[in-house]
Amino acid sequence: MVQIPSNNSLTVQAIYDTYEAGREPFRPHLGASLIGRECERELWYTFRWCSAPFHSGRLLRLFETGQLEEYRFVENLRSVGIEVHDFESETGNQFGFSDMGGHFAGSIDGAALGIIEAPKTWHLLEFKTYNDKRFELLKKHGVQMTSPEHHAQMVIYMHYLGFTRAFYLAVNKNTDELYSERIRNDSALAGLLQQKAERIIVAPCPPIRISSDPEWWKCKFCDHSAVCHDGFPAEVQCRTCLHCRPDDGCWLCGEHRQKLSYKEQLRGCLEHQFILELKESVG
Ligand code: SF4
Ligand code: SF4
Repeated sequence: MVQIPSNNSLTVQAIYDTYEAGREPFRPHLGASLIGRECERELWYTFRWCSAPFHSGRLLRLFETGQLEEYRFVENLRSVGIEVHDFESETGNQFGFSDMGGHFAGSIDGAALGIIEAPKTWHLLEFKTYNDKRFELLKKHGVQMTSPEHHAQMVIYMHYLGFTRAFYLAVNKNTDELYSERIRNDSALAGLLQQKAERIIVAPCPPIRISSDPEWWKCKFCDHSAVCHDGFPAEVQCRTCLHCRPDDGCWLCGEHRQKLSYKEQLRGCLEHQFILELKESVG
C-alpha cells in the first residue's frame, strides 16, 4: 500500500498563503488602538507607511482567532442577561469614532447595559486575548499597568463616544480563564492622547527617537527599527513623499495638485521624493 505522506506542509502553506494574499498592507488612519504607544516616532512611521510589516499567514490567522473570540465574549455576556450592542443595526458596522479629518479613528467591540457590578451604567466593551504569562501579569497588576495601550484605547473611546465606564474582558488562551475590570473615563488623559494624535498627524517629518539604542527592547520589537536605526530605505509610496500631506478627509499631492485615493497612495509615482529625514536615513 502506498504510504500517505505525513507532511501536510503544502496544504498548510496554501492556507497561510491565502491569509497573506488577503491582507491590506497598511491602515489608512492612525488607530486609537495604537495611540497609547510610547514612541511618537514609531506612530509617525506607522501613519506614514514607512515600513510594510510582514505578518506571516500563521500570525494573521492568530489575529483572526482573537477576532472570532469577540463573538464568544458577546454571547457569554448575553447569557447572564446583559444587553449587548456590538454592531450598528443599519450599517452592520462596529460603533466607532473618527476625528482630525478622518485621520484619527477607531471602532469599539460594543456597548453593554446590565453589567452586574453596575447594572444601570452603560459600559463600553473591550475584549482581548492573552497568553498564559501575560494573563498572570494582568491578574496581578491590572490593565493600566499590564497593557497601557489597551487602557489608552478605552480612555479615548470613552471620551469620544460619551461613556463614563468601560468593561474590559480578557481570556487566557491557554486555560480559558476570564478576567474583567471596570475602567473609569479620564478626560485629562484623553486630552493628552488627542494632542499626541494631532502632533503625529501634522508632523511633516519623524519625531525624535524614544531611544538611540537599537538594542533597547522596545526598539528591538519595533516594526520600524530597520528604517529608524539601520538606515534601511522607507517604502516608496505617497506618504513618504515630501509632496504629500494629510488634509481634511483626504491626502493631498502638492506636485500634481490632487487628492489621492488609498490605491494611488500605495502606488506613488515617478516624481516621488523622500521626505528629507527619510532620505537622509536612506543615504
Ligand atoms: S526603533 Fe525605537 S526609536 Fe525608532 S521608532 Fe521604533 S521604538 Fe521608536
Ligand atoms: S509626487 Fe507622486 S509619489 Fe509624491 S505625493 Fe505626488 S503622486 Fe505621490
